[in-house]
Parts: sequence; structure tokens; C-alpha cells
Amino acid sequence: MQDMSHLSFSEFAKRLHEVIGEEPPASFVRELFSSSVSLPSTKENPMVTQSDDSFRKYFTGGNDISAIASKVIEYMDVEDVEGFLNSRIQDDHDKKCKLWDSLSPWLDTGNFNCCIESTARLFVEIVRVAASKQGKWKRSNAKAKQDFSVYTIPYDENTYEVYRCPNCGETHFDVGAEYCPGCGLPLTNHCKGVVGISGSHWDDPPHVCKPAQKFCQKCGAPTVYYEDFHLMDKAPRK
Ligand SMILES: [Zn+2]
Ligand SMILES: [Zn+2]
Repeated sequence: MQDMSHLSFSEFAKRLHEVIGEEPPASFVRELFSSSVSLPSTKENPMVTQSDDSFRKYFTGGNDISAIASKVIEYMDVEDVEGFLNSRIQDDHDKKCKLWDSLSPWLDTGNFNCCIESTARLFVEIVRVAASKQGKWKRSNAKAKQDFSVYTIPYDENTYEVYRCPNCGETHFDVGAEYCPGCGLPLTNHCKGVVGISGSHWDDPPHVCKPAQKFCQKCGAPTVYYEDFHLMDKAPRK
């Protein structure tokens, strides 16, 4: 049974090698590190000094990478990793699909088009954790993004109308619909406004708010998504 919260360097390297490896595993790992790290010339360069056998063991999992990781992590750059991945993938759609199929459970994006930069971040993260050796690496947000919550509910940037009901998940709304046909939720969050002292008129009428807003930025009143529907309770706690 695979532990989905943790991806070892060895497992990562094997998956990557299957898709973009053009050389034997040891050379591939050496190249992966070399391309991802810009060491100052005054520093010992483990990508030059270490043996093929060491790199082979990083690949097989026979050696963990924490020692080399702590030497290179501060000189690693996500963009360099991305450059290496791009140089191997060369816009080859099949390769990109294979990469996505193989690594998407660990990527911090749900967007196929971002899979290369996300893979680069994943590699740097694996090295960072190995370098710090501070326990298990936890995927920070990949799953949270798929969680059902108002914070991640897609909405129209102009009207703030949700594309998916954050209360029941309904996605089919007729043109002009103002309420969810599945549960009656207003499709746009709004504040409750501020009622005048007499209670007879608005001091400040309700304002349209973004789905994840708890309070109105114009009048400070709570929003209906927050107060009436308690939707923020479903949001991931950080
Ligand atoms: Zn609904
Ligand atoms: Zn308001």
C-alpha cells in the first residue's frame, strides 16, 4: 500500500526516469542534480566528486539523499529544475501526459498545464525535506485544493457568482438563476447590510461579496455564506 502523503526521492527519481530518462539511472540522477543546482565554484561539487555507485543508490533507495541534499539545497532553483524538465520533454504531449499520470497525486496543482513547474517544485521540496530531515514531508496543499470548500469554489471574477454551489455541489444553473436549484443557496454571497437605528431603512444596504468572505469589506457586516449557511466551517483549517 502506497503512502500517498510521502514520496521518497528514490520513488520520485524512478517515476521521472521512466518518462524522461535518456541515460542509465546513475547518470540520470547526477544530471538531474547538476541541472538543478548552481554551486559557486568555490564549493565542493558533489555532482562531480561522488561516484556512479552513490548516484545509483540514491536512485534505488539504497542510500538516502540527506547528505547531498544538505550540500545543495541552498543553491537549488525551481526554475533551473523546470528548465531541465522542459529540455527533456520538449513540448512532447505524450511525455507530459505520462509525467502527469505518474506524479499528479503529489503535485500541488490540479492543472495539467502546470505539471512541469509543479514537478520542479516537488523535486525541490523533496530535497529540502531530506536536507532538513525534519520528519515526514506532508503534502501541503494538493489535496486541500480538491476539498469541497468555499475557499476553493470557482466563481466568476466579475459577478462573484459561484460556478458550483458551495453548499450542495450543484453545477447546473439556468441562465439568470439567482439561487441554487439543489438547495436554495444564493449563487452570489452578499453581506447582511447595516440596518439603521430605527430598523426601518438601511444605513448601508447589502453588498456583493466574494464566496469565501466572512465579513463585508465595505460595511463590516457578516455575509450570508458565513452567518446563515455556515459555509466557512467546511473550509480547510490551516
Ligand atoms: Zn446548492
Ligand atoms: Zn456590506
